Amino acid sequence: MSGGLSGSTSSARYSRVPILCFHNLNGQGRYSMSSPAFRHFMRRLKEEQIQVIKLETLVEHSKKMQPMEYPSVVITVDDDYEGAVRIAAPILREFDYPATFFVYTKGISDNPVEGMSWDDLRRLLSEGFDIQNHSHSHTIFHVPRAGENPMGYQKRLDMEVDTSREILEKNLMGHKIRFFAYPMGYHSPVLRERVFRSGYELVVTTDARPVDLTRPFTGSFDRRTLEHEGGIAEQIFDQAVLIAKKPM
Ligand SMILES: [Zn+2]
Repeated sequence: MSGGLSGSTSSARYSRVPILCFHNLNGQGRYSMSSPAFRHFMRRLKEEQIQVIKLETLVEHSKKMQPMEYPSVVITVDDDYEGAVRIAAPILREFDYPATFFVYTKGISDNPVEGMSWDDLRRLLSEGFDIQNHSHSHTIFHVPRAGENPMGYQKRLDMEVDTSREILEKNLMGHKIRFFAYPMGYHSPVLRERVFRSGYELVVTTDARPVDLTRPFTGSFDRRTLEHEGGIAEQIFDQAVLIAKKPM
Protein backbone atom coordinates (compact mmCIF):
# COMPACT_ATOMS: atom_id res chain seq x y z
CA MET A 1 0.00 0.00 0.00
CA SER A 2 1.34 3.40 -0.86
CA GLY A 3 -1.44 5.95 -0.77
CA GLY A 4 0.92 7.85 -3.05
CA LEU A 5 0.30 10.56 -5.56
CA SER A 6 1.43 10.97 -9.11
CA GLY A 7 1.61 13.75 -11.63
CA SER A 8 3.08 16.48 -9.47
CA THR A 9 6.37 17.98 -10.58
CA SER A 10 6.60 20.54 -7.83
CA SER A 11 9.97 20.94 -6.14
CA ALA A 12 8.40 22.10 -2.88
CA ARG A 13 9.18 20.13 0.25
CA TYR A 14 7.01 19.58 3.30
CA SER A 15 8.50 19.32 6.75
CA ARG A 16 5.50 18.97 9.04
CA VAL A 17 3.54 15.74 9.11
CA PRO A 18 0.45 15.34 11.29
CA ILE A 19 -0.29 11.89 12.70
CA LEU A 20 -4.04 11.41 12.90
CA CYS A 21 -5.43 9.28 15.73
CA PHE A 22 -8.81 7.54 15.39
CA HIS A 23 -10.63 5.40 17.93
CA ASN A 24 -14.00 3.71 17.75
CA LEU A 25 -16.15 4.04 14.63
CA ASN A 26 -19.66 3.41 15.91
CA GLY A 27 -20.35 7.13 16.22
CA GLN A 28 -20.99 6.98 19.96
CA GLY A 29 -18.97 8.99 22.43
CA ARG A 30 -16.44 11.77 22.41
CA TYR A 31 -13.69 9.93 20.52
CA SER A 32 -15.83 7.85 18.24
CA MET A 33 -16.91 8.80 14.76
CA SER A 34 -19.41 7.21 12.42
CA SER A 35 -18.43 5.14 9.44
CA PRO A 36 -19.64 7.84 6.96
CA ALA A 37 -17.61 10.46 8.84
CA PHE A 38 -14.48 8.31 8.67
CA ARG A 39 -14.99 7.77 4.94
CA HIS A 40 -15.53 11.51 4.50
CA PHE A 41 -12.14 12.28 6.06
CA MET A 42 -10.41 9.61 3.98
CA ARG A 43 -11.97 11.10 0.83
CA ARG A 44 -10.89 14.58 1.86
CA LEU A 45 -7.27 13.47 2.11
CA LYS A 46 -7.52 12.35 -1.49
CA GLU A 47 -9.24 15.58 -2.59
CA GLU A 48 -6.60 17.64 -0.80
CA GLN A 49 -3.89 15.57 -2.54
CA ILE A 50 -2.34 14.53 0.71
CA GLN A 51 -0.53 11.22 0.67
CA VAL A 52 -0.90 8.78 3.53
CA ILE A 53 2.43 7.30 4.56
CA LYS A 54 3.31 4.49 6.94
CA LEU A 55 4.38 5.39 10.46
CA GLU A 56 7.68 3.59 9.87
CA THR A 57 8.28 5.77 6.78
CA LEU A 58 7.86 8.86 8.92
CA VAL A 59 10.33 7.42 11.45
CA GLU A 60 12.88 6.90 8.65
CA HIS A 61 12.41 10.45 7.35
CA SER A 62 12.62 11.85 10.87
CA LYS A 63 15.87 10.00 11.63
CA LYS A 64 17.40 11.45 8.44
CA MET A 65 15.68 14.84 8.90
CA GLN A 66 14.49 14.39 5.34
CA PRO A 67 11.38 16.39 4.38
CA MET A 68 8.55 14.90 2.33
CA GLU A 69 8.12 15.46 -1.40
CA TYR A 70 4.34 15.67 -1.02
CA PRO A 71 2.00 16.83 1.74
CA SER A 72 1.68 13.80 4.01
CA VAL A 73 -0.16 12.44 7.01
CA VAL A 74 0.01 9.19 8.98
CA ILE A 75 -3.14 7.36 10.09
CA THR A 76 -3.30 5.49 13.41
CA VAL A 77 -6.26 3.68 14.98
CA ASP A 78 -6.20 3.02 18.72
CA ASP A 79 -7.70 0.35 20.99
CA ASP A 80 -9.41 -2.99 20.43
CA TYR A 81 -12.71 -1.90 18.96
CA GLU A 82 -14.41 -4.20 16.53
CA GLY A 83 -14.99 -1.13 14.36
CA ALA A 84 -11.24 -0.90 13.74
CA VAL A 85 -11.27 -4.18 11.83
CA ARG A 86 -14.85 -4.15 10.51
CA ILE A 87 -15.17 -0.47 9.55
CA ALA A 88 -11.82 1.34 9.47
CA ALA A 89 -9.75 -1.35 7.73
CA PRO A 90 -12.16 -1.91 4.78
CA ILE A 91 -12.46 1.85 4.17
CA LEU A 92 -8.68 2.28 4.39
CA ARG A 93 -8.28 -0.55 1.87
CA GLU A 94 -10.70 1.17 -0.52
CA PHE A 95 -8.44 4.21 -0.54
CA ASP A 96 -5.24 2.14 -0.49
CA TYR A 97 -4.07 3.95 2.65
CA PRO A 98 -1.66 2.36 5.12
CA ALA A 99 -2.34 2.61 8.86
CA THR A 100 -0.95 1.50 12.19
CA PHE A 101 -3.35 -0.11 14.66
CA PHE A 102 -2.30 0.32 18.30
CA VAL A 103 -3.90 -2.50 20.29
CA TYR A 104 -3.76 -3.62 23.92
CA THR A 105 -3.43 -7.29 24.58
CA LYS A 106 -5.68 -7.96 27.55
CA GLY A 107 -8.92 -8.19 25.59
CA ILE A 108 -7.65 -9.98 22.48
CA SER A 109 -8.32 -13.69 22.24
CA ASP A 110 -9.23 -16.36 19.70
CA ASN A 111 -12.92 -15.93 20.45
CA PRO A 112 -13.55 -12.52 21.99
CA VAL A 113 -17.01 -11.61 23.25
CA GLU A 114 -16.46 -8.16 21.77
CA GLY A 115 -13.54 -6.36 20.19
CA MET A 116 -10.97 -8.04 17.98
CA SER A 117 -9.58 -11.55 17.68
CA TRP A 118 -6.07 -12.74 16.87
CA ASP A 119 -7.40 -13.82 13.46
CA ASP A 120 -8.59 -10.27 12.87
CA LEU A 121 -5.14 -8.92 13.65
CA ARG A 122 -3.36 -11.51 11.52
CA ARG A 123 -5.67 -10.56 8.64
CA LEU A 124 -4.83 -6.87 9.09
CA LEU A 125 -1.13 -7.74 8.87
CA SER A 126 -1.67 -9.86 5.76
CA GLU A 127 -3.45 -6.90 4.18
CA GLY A 128 -0.37 -4.76 4.71
CA PHE A 129 -1.45 -2.86 7.80
CA ASP A 130 0.85 -2.37 10.76
CA ILE A 131 0.07 -3.41 14.34
CA GLN A 132 1.88 -1.96 17.33
CA ASN A 133 1.64 -1.95 21.11
CA HIS A 134 -0.80 0.02 23.24
CA SER A 135 0.01 -1.85 26.53
CA HIS A 136 -1.60 -4.88 28.14
CA SER A 137 -4.41 -3.46 30.26
CA HIS A 138 -4.89 0.08 28.91
CA THR A 139 -4.82 1.46 32.47
CA ILE A 140 -2.89 4.35 34.00
CA PHE A 141 0.73 3.38 34.72
CA HIS A 142 2.86 6.44 34.00
CA VAL A 143 3.14 6.88 37.78
CA PRO A 144 2.77 4.38 40.66
CA ARG A 145 -0.62 3.98 42.29
CA ALA A 146 -1.08 5.62 45.70
CA GLY A 147 0.74 3.40 48.19
CA GLU A 148 2.10 1.05 45.51
CA ASN A 149 5.54 -0.28 46.42
CA PRO A 150 8.39 0.12 43.90
CA MET A 151 8.62 -3.63 43.23
CA GLY A 152 4.93 -3.88 42.54
CA TYR A 153 5.10 -0.91 40.20
CA GLN A 154 8.06 -2.39 38.32
CA LYS A 155 6.16 -5.66 37.90
CA ARG A 156 3.22 -3.76 36.51
CA LEU A 157 5.46 -1.92 34.05
CA ASP A 158 7.02 -5.24 32.99
CA MET A 159 3.55 -6.51 32.14
CA GLU A 160 2.40 -3.36 30.33
CA VAL A 161 5.59 -2.73 28.36
CA ASP A 162 7.32 -6.11 27.88
CA THR A 163 4.85 -8.96 28.35
CA SER A 164 2.32 -7.24 26.09
CA ARG A 165 4.95 -7.09 23.35
CA GLU A 166 5.78 -10.78 23.82
CA ILE A 167 2.07 -11.66 23.56
CA LEU A 168 1.73 -9.64 20.35
CA GLU A 169 4.85 -11.04 18.72
CA LYS A 170 3.94 -14.62 19.66
CA ASN A 171 0.39 -14.38 18.29
CA LEU A 172 1.39 -12.35 15.23
CA MET A 173 3.95 -14.81 13.91
CA GLY A 174 6.96 -12.79 14.96
CA HIS A 175 5.72 -9.47 13.60
CA LYS A 176 8.14 -6.92 15.08
CA ILE A 177 6.72 -4.60 17.73
CA ARG A 178 8.76 -1.38 17.64
CA PHE A 179 6.33 1.36 18.65
CA PHE A 180 4.42 2.03 21.87
CA ALA A 181 1.36 4.27 22.27
CA TYR A 182 0.72 5.57 25.79
CA PRO A 183 -2.80 4.61 26.99
CA MET A 184 -4.97 7.72 27.15
CA GLY A 185 -1.81 9.67 26.37
CA TYR A 186 -0.54 9.61 29.97
CA HIS A 187 3.24 9.76 30.04
CA SER A 188 6.08 10.57 32.42
CA PRO A 189 9.89 10.63 32.23
CA VAL A 190 9.93 7.33 34.18
CA LEU A 191 7.64 5.57 31.73
CA ARG A 192 9.40 7.01 28.71
CA GLU A 193 12.77 5.80 30.01
CA ARG A 194 11.27 2.37 30.76
CA VAL A 195 9.85 2.03 27.24
CA PHE A 196 13.15 2.93 25.57
CA ARG A 197 15.09 0.62 27.91
CA SER A 198 12.89 -2.17 26.57
CA GLY A 199 14.14 -1.43 23.07
CA TYR A 200 11.18 0.39 21.54
CA GLU A 201 12.16 2.80 18.78
CA LEU A 202 9.28 5.19 19.19
CA VAL A 203 6.61 6.28 21.65
CA VAL A 204 3.52 8.10 20.49
CA THR A 205 1.49 10.55 22.55
CA THR A 206 -1.78 12.37 22.00
CA ASP A 207 -0.26 15.84 22.41
CA ALA A 208 -1.31 16.99 18.92
CA ARG A 209 1.88 18.63 17.64
CA PRO A 210 2.80 17.63 14.08
CA VAL A 211 6.09 15.83 13.47
CA ASP A 212 8.68 18.39 12.34
CA LEU A 213 11.22 16.91 9.95
CA THR A 214 13.59 19.87 10.37
CA ARG A 215 14.24 18.75 13.95
CA PRO A 216 16.29 15.76 15.12
CA PHE A 217 14.46 12.51 15.88
CA THR A 218 13.71 12.28 19.61
CA GLY A 219 12.00 8.88 19.72
CA SER A 220 8.65 10.52 20.45
CA PHE A 221 5.92 11.59 18.04
CA ASP A 222 2.73 13.44 18.95
CA ARG A 223 -0.61 12.59 17.38
CA ARG A 224 -3.75 14.55 16.70
CA THR A 225 -6.90 12.90 18.08
CA LEU A 226 -10.00 13.53 15.99
CA GLU A 227 -12.57 14.21 18.69
CA HIS A 228 -15.98 13.93 17.17
CA GLU A 229 -18.23 15.38 19.83
CA GLY A 230 -19.47 18.90 19.13
CA GLY A 231 -18.50 18.60 15.48
CA ILE A 232 -14.93 19.66 16.14
CA ALA A 233 -13.36 16.75 14.22
CA GLU A 234 -13.75 18.76 11.02
CA GLN A 235 -11.84 21.72 12.53
CA ILE A 236 -9.10 19.45 13.83
CA PHE A 237 -8.89 17.82 10.43
CA ASP A 238 -8.77 21.20 8.63
CA GLN A 239 -5.83 22.25 10.82
CA ALA A 240 -4.00 19.03 10.00
CA VAL A 241 -4.60 19.61 6.27
CA LEU A 242 -3.20 23.15 6.48
CA ILE A 243 -0.13 21.96 8.37
CA ALA A 244 0.54 19.08 5.97
CA LYS A 245 0.17 21.29 2.87
CA LYS A 246 2.33 24.17 4.03
CA PRO A 247 5.61 24.07 2.06
CA MET A 248 8.92 24.64 3.87
ZN1 LIG B 1 -6.26 3.88 23.85
